[in-house]
Amino acid sequence: MRFPSPVEYYELEGVPFYLKRDDLIDPRFSGNKARKLHYFLVRDFHINRLISYGSMQSNAMYSLSVLCRDRGWEFLYYARINEKLLLSPLGNLKRALENGMVLRPIEELRVDRKLCSETKLFDDTLFVPEGVRCKEAKEGVSLLADEIIEWARANNVERLNIFLPSGTGTTALFLKESLAERGCSFEVYTVACVGDSDYLKKEFRSLSNSKISPVILQPSVKFRFASLDPRLFEIYMKIKNVCGFEIDLVYDTVGFFTLLENRGLFEGTTLLYIHQGGLLGNESMIARYKAKFGKIAKPFKKDSHAVSI
Ligand SMILES: *Cc1c(COP(=O)(O)O)cnc(C)c1O
Repeated sequence: MRFPSPVEYYELEGVPFYLKRDDLIDPRFSGNKARKLHYFLVRDFHINRLISYGSMQSNAMYSLSVLCRDRGWEFLYYARINEKLLLSPLGNLKRALENGMVLRPIEELRVDRKLCSETKLFDDTLFVPEGVRCKEAKEGVSLLADEIIEWARANNVERLNIFLPSGTGTTALFLKESLAERGCSFEVYTVACVGDSDYLKKEFRSLSNSKISPVILQPSVKFRFASLDPRLFEIYMKIKNVCGFEIDLVYDTVGFFTLLENRGLFEGTTLLYIHQGGLLGNESMIARYKAKFGKIAKPFKKDSHAVSI
């Protein structure tokens, strides 16, 4: 693990921003999942098995498979089975299976809904909710808050706007809470990539009773989760070619789309974007883009605005 994660400086379409490279924390984990799993990585658990559930392409699934392999636990993962994907697994699924994950149909997961929203230890088995959406995730995310405060202090940044896209909202919420608990008033902005803003607000409320929460920005386009959209792929290619780093095709594309639409909010302020990893998942996303839009063109010229599909 590499702490603190490095911070870099970029400009995109005239918008200057710093980039916190949480994707570089540990090549084995998928970005922010290394933060979210910190609690489980540093403690002794006397268990033999970890159970979770979610989608067959999930970054959390892959990161949990690494945790279980390292700790010598059996990893049982419940998902709606897509037979076609199973025949030729890619990205997260391929690597999780290689790590020994046992995949089961979601219908076989017999736990009540209450149990699905928090971590539960029973006998020799630890149950972790979908997307590692649980209170325990706060421990690692609070270290992210510490790193940001320390970076801002070292660079004389007195006011900072932080942006990160949300799935379950766990990272964004716990980051804002941790900053506030340290007396830091940096603002945290996010966008809902799963569901809409109301869904994300509900997620915040179910994770914590505190009144503090990140500011949710709304993109002008309603993107379905992990949808294939030329406007999103264009942002991915542009960042790759103009800035020279790769973003994830599920969360960051919606993140940067929303950030650029709201650029006025950030004018004249210091902006820090949290890169939460997820690049292993790009393999299956690019395969889906190719299947839908045909051959994806080779990287185009610097500053070109052409759509690359
Ligand atoms: C999991 C993940 C997110 C969302 O994190 P939440 O804590 O669920 O909001 C964002 N980006 C990437 C790349 C992820 O893997």
